[in-house]
Amino acid sequence: MSDHHDLDRRHFMKAGAATVAGLAAGASYERAAHAQDTNKPATGVGRAKPVVIASANGMAAVERAMEQLKAGADPLDAAIAGVNIVEDDPEDITVGLGGLPNEDGVVELDASVMHGPMHKAGAVAALQGIKNPSMVARLVMQRTDHVLLVGQGALRFAKAHGFKEQELLTDKARKIWLRWKESHSKNDDWVEAEELEGAIPGNPDAIPFTWGTINCCALNANGDLGGVTTTSGLSYKIPGRVGDSPIIGAGLFVDNDIGAAGSTGRGEANLQNCSSFAIVEAMRHGQSPEQACLTVLQRIADHAEPRLRDEKGRAKFGLKFYAVAKDGTFGSASMWSGGQMAVHDGAQARRIEAAYLYKK
Ligand code: ASP
Repeated sequence: MSDHHDLDRRHFMKAGAATVAGLAAGASYERAAHAQDTNKPATGVGRAKPVVIASANGMAAVERAMEQLKAGADPLDAAIAGVNIVEDDPEDITVGLGGLPNEDGVVELDASVMHGPMHKAGAVAALQGIKNPSMVARLVMQRTDHVLLVGQGALRFAKAHGFKEQELLTDKARKIWLRWKESHSKNDDWVEAEELEGAIPGNPDAIPFTWGTINCCALNANGDLGGVTTTSGLSYKIPGRVGDSPIIGAGLFVDNDIGAAGSTGRGEANLQNCSSFAIVEAMRHGQSPEQACLTVLQRIADHAEPRLRDEKGRAKFGLKFYAVAKDGTFGSASMWSGGQMAVHDGAQARRIEAAYLYKK
């Protein structure tokens, strides 16, 4: 299941606002790198209950991450192990293998990670051919003096660490892309098939157009935090487009003294408001995770440009935030009603309703 935003996309299109426009770097190696981390001063307070939160597509992810936390894993390693399930799933068309491609039919992935105790981050953007960008992002954090690698440089770096390049475009994603390619203009040489399974020829609304991402943040019993956000980004994007997910402070932010926040949805709105950073700052100033998510959504809505507002002035796009505080409280908010988050509080995994600014 993916965190889709088809409804928002339909609104977007109607308004005419958008031109349609166990990998080789294995566990022992990662453990070796983390062994260095143990030299860092522990900042955990030793009073937290372990909690894992994720976007709604992260039910399996929070299960796996919680299992790992209980077995003593580092919170970032646990969160990454969780999202690897979705990155590896060829049926999920929004993350990793099988993600929807850019407008040229090439899958480009974005991801970021942030480790609370070290206050370090790593990220990759527009990475092709490697299905687990979250793991490459972790290596950028651990094995370079940089935070963000993009495109060919990110791919070369991943291969230097033993990741195997592979075709990420599945047949399922290719057929969806082809349907988009053939139907988005009458004034080109691409001709739509007459019979399209599940599609209405000439109706772009019948084509899956997604945002979709997984964000997962983990808090261990020592009060230490880690977070990851990973995505194939906006479907049919202009090649080279980078969303919010790999940008520290936008798609993800972790402050081990305060909490962690992440995002899914319209990355451009998030990028222009540094939202995950702003959420953590709101928590620093005393807001609960849910209040902090709502505060920042309101700011984004207030800043929305006119073409992205409906007739009542409301922001027309979908955007969701997920946050966990160092004391183990958590919350989520969505621009529009109907959003959910996945949570594991140590006892069980469940989906809970997100707060929202606007009712659908
Ligand atoms: N935020 C992601 C991006 O803009 C997509 C999503 O979460 O739906 O690339």
